[in-house]
Amino acid sequence: MARELSIVGAGLAGALIARLLAQRGWKIDLYERRADPRSGPAIGGRSINLALSERGWNALRMAGLEQQVAAQAIAMRGRAVHSLDGHLDLQPYGLNDQQVIHSVHRANLNRLLVSAAADAGVRLHFDHALRTVDWENSHLYLDTPQGPSQQPFAAVVGADGAGSPLRAAMIAAFGLEEEISWEEHGYKELSIRPGGTSQDPQFRLDPHALHIWPRGQFMLIALPNADRSFTVTLFLPLKGEKSFDKLTTEEAVAQFFQSEFPSAVPYLEDLQQEFVDNQVGPLATLRLSPWHHQGRALLIGDAAHAVVPFHGQGMNCAFEDCAELADLLCDECDLAPAFAEFYRRRKDNADAIAAMAVENYYEMRDHVARADYQWAKQIESALARRFPQRFLSRYAQVSFTRLPYAEARHRGAIQSEIIQQLAQASSLEEIDWQLAEQLIAQRLQPLPSHAQLLNQESGHG
Ligand SMILES: Cc1cc2nc3c(=O)[nH]c(=O)nc-3n(C[C@H](O)[C@H](O)[C@H](O)COP(=O)(O)OP(=O)(O)OC[C@H]3O[C@@H](n4cnc5c(N)ncnc54)[C@H](O)[C@@H]3O)c2cc1C
Repeated sequence: MARELSIVGAGLAGALIARLLAQRGWKIDLYERRADPRSGPAIGGRSINLALSERGWNALRMAGLEQQVAAQAIAMRGRAVHSLDGHLDLQPYGLNDQQVIHSVHRANLNRLLVSAAADAGVRLHFDHALRTVDWENSHLYLDTPQGPSQQPFAAVVGADGAGSPLRAAMIAAFGLEEEISWEEHGYKELSIRPGGTSQDPQFRLDPHALHIWPRGQFMLIALPNADRSFTVTLFLPLKGEKSFDKLTTEEAVAQFFQSEFPSAVPYLEDLQQEFVDNQVGPLATLRLSPWHHQGRALLIGDAAHAVVPFHGQGMNCAFEDCAELADLLCDECDLAPAFAEFYRRRKDNADAIAAMAVENYYEMRDHVARADYQWAKQIESALARRFPQRFLSRYAQVSFTRLPYAEARHRGAIQSEIIQQLAQASSLEEIDWQLAEQLIAQRLQPLPSHAQLLNQESGHG
């Protein structure tokens, strides 16, 4: 008989895990508080587009969806860094054309995943918002347009996002430990319309780059969309001299953008209207322990480990959860040890990407524009070329491999120390390469073979 599971939340992780498990013969009920995204326009919300990288692609591959997603994704080969004086610096993400990340449209990806879940036989219940759980009698209490509904469950997986009501119900009943660290910065989304004509729309900036206007304490970024527009995000302190708090009039907004982002202003035609219409979003890291209770309930994705968006890894990490969980849930296995094993495998890695995401904010908003950072990056690329068996940039480990996040962070810290030791030299010719070889041999284990291949100039695959 088919094993049964209820899943709450048909967002990115919920729809994908539902498909993966249904493909493996599980009988899945998927409850989502919103209306069916396949009918009607996309519901507005946070992050219109997302950066997709190898961990996410791997899970999509497992679900047989790689080609469909690739058809709507735009490759971004590196960062286009816009200085205050209008200078543009292209900083590639990797050593070759294979090392790219992709911009995907959140709402379209969600639609595709929901359709794919339906195709695999998942029973979808839209307009069903989880309110609470009766653990004793194994019932989910849901709000629907027709009134309250009670649904029995055998086991429940919460993929209901950062504000997870399932997490709240688990904390209330089982005392999980939750820690939320709020950033003193928030974000607001803006846009750059396509250029050209409506028959022949054109990108107004290079579409194959993630654009950054780094300004030390804050930054503006832009990612391309398939319709030739860009989604632009302003990350800024909530309070203080230069902050959202101070941008309360048209004049203040105009003045701030003109003095901080003059090269972006000509493209931001809807700035004033969008500034009023779009809310400031909060940024936080969630640390929870554990993520499961016996074999009854498990949390995945943002519901278990929401991170700040600066490494572009929240969805990728959530998709990696899906791949790992689908591998662990076999037909005969007991759910309690499977959930416990999932938590054991994922927790340290989720903590590591949470920390790296915060660190990456400093890198994006400040370091990328600094000469010492650019010098360190030159050394990093040279080391990766000379010692491809052992040295790979931390960014590449996170974005282009599936090395566990915790290992990428550990190797990254060692690599950083080695780079600092070598950075006393003033040019690549002056670097003591013998010392570099010694340090790398002593301190870094060989990389797995797929990661070594990434360092080859010509790329692969
Ligand atoms: C500004 C910003 C930029 C980002 N950029 C990137 C990026 O470039 N790359 C990347 O990998 N990640 C990025 N992320 C992170 C990414 O958005 C999340 O990690 C990802 O959406 C997590 O997926 P999820 O399925 O766990 O949660 P969600 O996508 O939030 O899905 C949760 C689902 O649960 C539903 N739900 C909520 N409450 C209930 C309820 N009571 N009952 C039933 N259903 C419910 C919601 O409606 C939703 O459909 C970004 C995030 C932000 C805020």
